[in-house]
Amino acid sequence: MKVKFYGTRGSIPVCAPEFQEFGGNTTCVQLRVKETNNIGIFDAGTGIRDLGKDYLSSGHQQKEIFIALTHFHWDHIQGFPFFAPAFIKNQNINLLALGWGKRINCLEEIFKTQMQKEYFPVQLEKMGANFNFMLLSETKKILEPEVEDPKPVIVSTNKHKHPGGAYGYRIERDGKVFVFCTDVEHGDSIDDSVVKLAKDANLLVHEAQYTTEELKEKKGWGHSSYEQALEVAERANVKVLVITHHDPDHDDEFLKKREIECQERFKDSVLAREKMEIEF
Ligand SMILES: [Zn+2]
Ligand SMILES: [Zn+2]
Repeated sequence: MKVKFYGTRGSIPVCAPEFQEFGGNTTCVQLRVKETNNIGIFDAGTGIRDLGKDYLSSGHQQKEIFIALTHFHWDHIQGFPFFAPAFIKNQNINLLALGWGKRINCLEEIFKTQMQKEYFPVQLEKMGANFNFMLLSETKKILEPEVEDPKPVIVSTNKHKHPGGAYGYRIERDGKVFVFCTDVEHGDSIDDSVVKLAKDANLLVHEAQYTTEELKEKKGWGHSSYEQALEVAERANVKVLVITHHDPDHDDEFLKKREIECQERFKDSVLAREKMEIEF
């Protein structure tokens, strides 16, 4: 599997020059299965715009594109109206909210509302693609093997603490494990269910919007500190940790310092940079 970061920023995009190394777009991560070249997408923050352009320019086409959503805060859905493949007639796009079930009434409504004419000039139903809104109450889904890919992909989720709720994703295929866990507030101690979700992952992507000091002032805002992300990685015995969802007030200089501190404690850790790729 190969992961590419298209959006690493939390809360709101930033575009000042001192934010360019780590990137200004909000959350969007692409997972590619090497054997088939097929991609899956996590969250539709503003980074999904570049992802869509890369998808089209690569010439690679897939019958169905999955976009898995951790939750629906602006920074995780705001790029969707600019996702170019959604404007292609007959492109099938599955929007997957695994585990949410009845916790939200209608997934389609969330995207429709975001694109109603008071907010956006093109309405969802006029985009062109065929949308399938998968609001599932179970927390595990097995994507059946396809002709070109005989290996099933197992997707499971875990609900964690965040205002309005949010889900972490665990993807398993052919013995490799990718875990994506963002917008998570552990509280006074680490949420054991997050450690369980991340257990023995080849790659864990965990958010850290704040330093330990900052987090004291931001209780209830739904986020983690660098130390908490490191603790999850250690306890879950993950091979590589990538820290993402950088605070919009944290510039490159600040983040580089935090990255060095993280690596002193957990060698195979790195702070996510836009367009960074990791293969495992
Ligand atoms: Zn967020
Ligand atoms: Zn959020």
